[in-house]
Amino acid sequence: LVRLRERLARSGSPLGARLLSVLSRDHLTEEDWDELEETLLLADVGAGPAGELIDALRTKVRVLGVRDAASVRDLLRTELVALVDPSLDRSLATSPRAGEDGSPVPAVVLVVGVNGTGKTTTVGKLARVLVAEDRSVVLGAADTFRAAAADQLETWGSRVGVPTVRSDRDGADPAAVAFDAVRRGRTEGADVVLVDTAGRLQNKQGLMDELGKIRRVITKEAPLSEVLLVLDATTGQNGLNQARVFGEVAGVTGIVLTKLDGTARGGIVVAVQRELGVPVKLVGLGEGPDDLAPFDAEQFVDGLLG
Ligand code: GDP
Repeated sequence: LVRLRERLARSGSPLGARLLSVLSRDHLTEEDWDELEETLLLADVGAGPAGELIDALRTKVRVLGVRDAASVRDLLRTELVALVDPSLDRSLATSPRAGEDGSPVPAVVLVVGVNGTGKTTTVGKLARVLVAEDRSVVLGAADTFRAAAADQLETWGSRVGVPTVRSDRDGADPAAVAFDAVRRGRTEGADVVLVDTAGRLQNKQGLMDELGKIRRVITKEAPLSEVLLVLDATTGQNGLNQARVFGEVAGVTGIVLTKLDGTARGGIVVAVQRELGVPVKLVGLGEGPDDLAPFDAEQFVDGLLG
């Protein structure tokens, strides 16, 4: 988490720099408040939340009679933390459960999102985190659309030392592969099965059918513990649109925000949590195996403010 803060700071957050320049003025004018709001918009906080935050901040500044920049900044920090909502449960459900016959059933984590957002990479990194916690993991390559996707997942699997269930043919039924992965996890007594999926958004009905079938088929074998939606933080409004579609079709339980290392637009956290009503649980901070961190509201806001 310290790393998260350092990296966000290094990404040259214009939020922190611009806010400081506004807040260091003696007397905040109407234009200054507009500039603060614009700065929040540039960081992708979203129009609704940014407006609410500025209103709340102005009221507090007036009521408390606060003048100096440091105090305004502290109030702003408090408002931002509240907006990101530290009270949300961001834990990942990755504990096996008892099946009907008493035998343990692995936790199944379905990972969804548009291609290129970082799904496969996230599955690989998450497997590594779990293995480091001494958990046994099976990967399922249910992105059968491109053979390269399964190869990429398998590479992560061998790197991390966990098996990957895949199909040898392009275009095999993704639900069948997901089912096989969960069954293998069950017979091997694995703790967690991570299922990677394809994310072709061009056809919403197709996506809905495919994810719906994967969900149905998996739940014949084990309940779904998590459905994680992977979003690329650098894509702004586009990411929000994706969140909307996947929220409708996939039963998302948590968000993974990737590529936060490459952007100062982390305010998307606020917008996307509101859109989906589920918390950001993990953040991606790079392409390497250790570049995945749990999300922490306070640390995140400190990183954003720089
Ligand atoms: P998928 O198509 O959704 O499975 O996406 P991939 O996992 O193949 O990732 C797409 C690209 O994004 C790859 O080049 C990854 O290395 C890169 N990537 C994934 N996560 C991150 C991240 O957190 N930070 C950065 N900088 N790159 C990432």
